[in-house]
Amino acid sequence: MTEYHVIGAGLAGLAAACLLAERGKDVVLHEAAKAAGGRARSYFDAQLNCRIDNGNHLLLSGNDSTMHYLRRIGTEDSLTGPADPVFPFVDLCSGAHWKLRLNRGRLPWWIFAPSMRVPGTRPADYLLLLKLRRAGAGDLVERLVGGAGSLYRNLLEPLAIAALNTPLDIASALPLKVVLAETIERGGASSIPRFPAIGLSESFVDPALAWLQARGAEIRLGQRVTAIDPDQKTILAAPPWVAAELLPGLIVPDEFEAICNLHFKAQVDPGEAKFWGLIGGTAEWVFAKGEILSATISAANRYNDAGNAELAAKVWAELAKALGLGAELPEYRVVREKRATFAATPAQLARRPKTRTVNKNLVLAGDWTDTGLPATIEGAIRSGNAAAEAILNPGYP
Ligand SMILES: Cc1cc2nc3c(=O)[nH]c(=O)nc-3n(C[C@H](O)[C@H](O)[C@H](O)COP(=O)(O)OP(=O)(O)OC[C@H]3O[C@@H](n4cnc5c(N)ncnc54)[C@H](O)[C@@H]3O)c2cc1C
Repeated sequence: MTEYHVIGAGLAGLAAACLLAERGKDVVLHEAAKAAGGRARSYFDAQLNCRIDNGNHLLLSGNDSTMHYLRRIGTEDSLTGPADPVFPFVDLCSGAHWKLRLNRGRLPWWIFAPSMRVPGTRPADYLLLLKLRRAGAGDLVERLVGGAGSLYRNLLEPLAIAALNTPLDIASALPLKVVLAETIERGGASSIPRFPAIGLSESFVDPALAWLQARGAEIRLGQRVTAIDPDQKTILAAPPWVAAELLPGLIVPDEFEAICNLHFKAQVDPGEAKFWGLIGGTAEWVFAKGEILSATISAANRYNDAGNAELAAKVWAELAKALGLGAELPEYRVVREKRATFAATPAQLARRPKTRTVNKNLVLAGDWTDTGLPATIEGAIRSGNAAAEAILNPGYP
């Protein structure tokens, strides 16, 4: 039987391998690292003496491909989050706490309820979202919708920075438009925040490997692929810089943005949602998970040279203020992912390749391929599904 080789066991490669195995194909999954998961993984941290994720990953219930992937491997119930579409925020400048609360249906009547919408906004302000609906690749987020008072500062800015991981003065509004169309515009039922209750590996990675093994897939961890056999059916799901090395001449995104996560050993009351958006601070989001309080700084290239101790002290002071915690800095771990995602600028979007290559045996997957979505779990999984479909079906677009 024909073997299907998948290079890279990040979420794109895992999704592709699962789809192929589900269709009864012989799968060989190659992963350079000793553990699978790529940019979404959990591990034991000796300093904190517990397992942590490399970074907080926020999903929304409208991430259909992701939810389907989790149902396939049997872990949809391993996600947690608020029961409703609610987003708690704390403004570090004013000290105000509020909750954005969407109604579940498609008709957004939450906009007309002052207790549900963003404080300081009027219903007419939300017409701004229509501007985003018309966004093209060349439209920059800040130029298109920025400077628009409370709605931008208190909602669009933190959402956009999380989705695009790119400074908003240079980020294209197009992928943000796609995210909003698949979540908030579909109504609150598609916008419920979700994240792993235990860890990324427990939800996305380890059960997928077990699921694949149970279906006879061969998993080769710790084995870096250094060349591609043009006669073998192959899905290349490695990061863009590796893909460009393996396939000279391939045009791929080549500018990246960091994400910095600061994990503090601190148990706090997780509240209704188990996370908060932070307005006016260094980090944009903070998650309470068991004994760890973990803050995320997106578009973090500007902090690449900042010292860990200095950054941790600064972020902890903000968390202490926002959540009413003690001033003493607890044990912490700073995790910097310097190439967390490609920069979602118009020029970089234009470098995203299609799934198919000139070789009919070789297709591409990864959050950096041309999914229309920003570099996210949903984009990675969708790219993996598309790659598997393309290699199985010559007629697949
Ligand atoms: C800190 C952080 C926070 C994030 N937050 C969010 C979030 O909140 N929500 C969200 O949706 N997304 C988030 N993302 C993005 C998300 O993690 C990625 O989009 C997704 O994990 C990318 O998966 P991938 O399979 O495309 O790539 P990768 O995870 O990079 O997988 C590629 C794999 O290929 C392997 N590989 C490389 N070279 C070779 C080789 N030669 N041979 C074999 N294997 C090779 C790598 O080791 C890796 O395992 C975040 C990312 C980071 C880093």
